[in-house]
Amino acid sequence: MASSTKIDLLKEELPVEQETLVLDGDVKTGLVIVDVVNGFCTVGAGNLAPPVPDEQISGMVQETVRISRNFAEKKWPIYALLDTHHPDIPEHPYPPHCLVGTEEAELVPGLKWLENEPSVTLRRKNCIDGYIGSTEKDGSNVFIDWVKTNQIKRILVVGICTDICVLDFVCAALSAKNRGFLDPLEEVLVYSSGCATFDLPADVAKNIKGAIAHPQELMHHIGLYIARGRGAKVVSEVSFST
Ligand SMILES: [Zn+2]
Repeated sequence: MASSTKIDLLKEELPVEQETLVLDGDVKTGLVIVDVVNGFCTVGAGNLAPPVPDEQISGMVQETVRISRNFAEKKWPIYALLDTHHPDIPEHPYPPHCLVGTEEAELVPGLKWLENEPSVTLRRKNCIDGYIGSTEKDGSNVFIDWVKTNQIKRILVVGICTDICVLDFVCAALSAKNRGFLDPLEEVLVYSSGCATFDLPADVAKNIKGAIAHPQELMHHIGLYIARGRGAKVVSEVSFST
């Protein structure tokens, strides 16, 4: 991991202003959960899973479970993306992961109950960007339909990885909103403690052929920074007042 001094310097140069979110039911809010599947979150579950317990990832799972339970109790809409690949269609540049029919492509144990919740829409996707991954062959889009059907004005995004699947989805949703595809959606919020990314420090990556360094804390921060720069709001706390 980069020294804390370097990270502090970077955070000073690229500050991410964060707000507090209190959900009271006044603004119709939908929760979007990105790829909280075993293949990315459960220790030792696969090529892209954490090899050892990871505080940022387990904290993200814990917060995702807490927020999901609150949403489900209130019957507020939840859209859960699940990275899922056919073994014959690899996803460059990543090694095989989340193959269809394996535990890797299933929700983590703490979220399995979502499968039986009426207020939840599950969407399997075989690409990084969950907005693109929600597009059907006929051009319709399950995410757009979810926003419109539920008349969602605000989405709260959680999941993994902050700088990859979460960021790409957030950017696509912001563009689609501006393009007028997502009425009545007005705001895209990213919950920082509800997001996480993987850790591949530079000194480890240099010994792996073809690997690109990906220091966790820095990349998580950069993911949030870019999301905010594109027009998302980043929130540091989420609570419920109803
Ligand atoms: Zn994938």
